[in-house]
Amino acid sequence: MKAVEYPLVEDFYTIQGEGAHTGRPAYFIRTAGCDVNCWWCDVQESWDEEAHPPKSVGHIVQNVKDSGAEFAVITGGEPLLHDLDPLTFQLKQAGLQVHIETSGSSPLSGYLDWITLSPKRFKEPIDDIFPYVDELKVVVLTNKDFEWAEKNAEKCPDDTQLLLQPEWEKEGAVELIIDYVKENPEWGISLQTHKFMGVR
Ligand code: SF4
Repeated sequence: MKAVEYPLVEDFYTIQGEGAHTGRPAYFIRTAGCDVNCWWCDVQESWDEEAHPPKSVGHIVQNVKDSGAEFAVITGGEPLLHDLDPLTFQLKQAGLQVHIETSGSSPLSGYLDWITLSPKRFKEPIDDIFPYVDELKVVVLTNKDFEWAEKNAEKCPDDTQLLLQPEWEKEGAVELIIDYVKENPEWGISLQTHKFMGVR
């Protein structure tokens, strides 16, 4: 039987730089392929699945185990373009916690301990994901993004962590978020601290 494979842009052991688990060491698995097409995307090299050779589940899981990481973060691209059941099953078998960062725009799959939903207007999330969202992380460029954030927050469970994250290169986004969070304290701020630290 042929081994299950995923197109892989890169995998690496680093520090989770953003969101609720900021500052924790984590093994990142970046799958290839994305059909969301955010114009400000900073990983556009991940969009074309064909440009990235497939790697077997065994190869990927062994890399995570060798790193000594306690948890893996599956990201992309849009990782839910792939059936994540085989990969996440093997990661769980290896004793790892499994997190995902997704736009939620393709059907949910996988054995997941933590779901970070980062919804994108360009291809909206499928409603099925909302009951399972642990962390809602909305990228903010302008005031209009707060409406988008609230629209998505309404669909999440009450205990979902709500985070607003400034788009790294958008001047003024941090100030907009600070004002908004002061008025709406159920929201917190996520910063891309890995960019300050100079790590991937
Ligand atoms: S969903 Fe993520 S990977 Fe896809 S275009 Fe948007 S930011 Fe880039």
